[in-house]
Amino acid sequence: MKDRILSGMRPTGRLHLGNYFGALKNWIELQKTYECFFFIADFHALTTSYESPADIRSNVEEMALDFLAAGIDPGKSTLFLQSLVPTHAEAHLLFSMFTPLAWLERTPSYKEMIETLKDRDLRTYGFLGYPLLQTVDIVLYHPKFVPVGVDQVPHIELCREIVRRFNHLYKSDLPEPQPLLTASPKLPGIDGQKMSKSYNNTIELFGSASETKKRIMSIKTDSTPVGEPKDPAACNVFAILSLLCGDAERKSWEERYRAGGMGYGDVKKALAEKYEEVFGAMRARRDELARDRGAVWEILRKGSARALDISTNHLAAMRRAIGIAY
Ligand code: AMP
Repeated sequence: MKDRILSGMRPTGRLHLGNYFGALKNWIELQKTYECFFFIADFHALTTSYESPADIRSNVEEMALDFLAAGIDPGKSTLFLQSLVPTHAEAHLLFSMFTPLAWLERTPSYKEMIETLKDRDLRTYGFLGYPLLQTVDIVLYHPKFVPVGVDQVPHIELCREIVRRFNHLYKSDLPEPQPLLTASPKLPGIDGQKMSKSYNNTIELFGSASETKKRIMSIKTDSTPVGEPKDPAACNVFAILSLLCGDAERKSWEERYRAGGMGYGDVKKALAEKYEEVFGAMRARRDELARDRGAVWEILRKGSARALDISTNHLAAMRRAIGIAY
């Protein structure tokens, strides 16, 4: 029996290289070792996009295509859509009864997101409950591990706290999940800040070859002249290039940086070529998959039915523990 893991992503737009190197690539590798549950968190997307939900459906479809093209294998892993599995909504309601408001209010991401997304009113019941919804997403499947980046660790800690409260109140033994840390550096975007849709600085995972090349050529660098030695560790182009190279190739680039005589334009061209080498075939597979969108929905529906089956059993046990099983 393999240990179970579970992780989700919000369908808020096209995936970028930060999402790939920060999460998706890791998920694909984890499929070899674990029984994997991956989901598209459309309820979570609603917490911040409740005023403009029109894109959610197409974002779900595009995200499923990205996942499948990148290597999520529905024959090995359960890929599901959160809102097609209504146990999440019911468990969220049950858990909302005993989760102290203060635990949610002090979650670091809560105030941060309200500050960052100033264009919308996030002082809603649903947005405050975001980490609680994450908690039930997890506990419904009893995973041993939840693969996350460091920024998500406080949410796993909160989940564990809520599980302990449930177990204490209802004399139960729901398992506490552990974070499985993704060892990935924060990928810079083309302006040098963290690559993020909110900063409009992303390089899409599956952008067209010409669009991607344009974005790569516009990556911000310093103005060290071509002839001068350069520091690879301080270069945004190298930060991305090094993730696409093997060890030997990375070393050879480092040497070229330090030797001088190499311009940033050369590295950018090399990055555009490397990008095509690594992602070109995946993009072709995505184009192929995109021809039959019905089949993509079929995969999501099948995965969601399996997720419903498993989570229904666990939810029934929670209802019995609380004392409302009839
Ligand atoms: P988001 O859509 O920003 O919530 O990101 C989804 C996933 O991608 C999360 O697991 C993030 O940790 C990861 N991610 C997003 N942006 C980056 C980045 N610039 N560098 C590394 N990982 C990232």
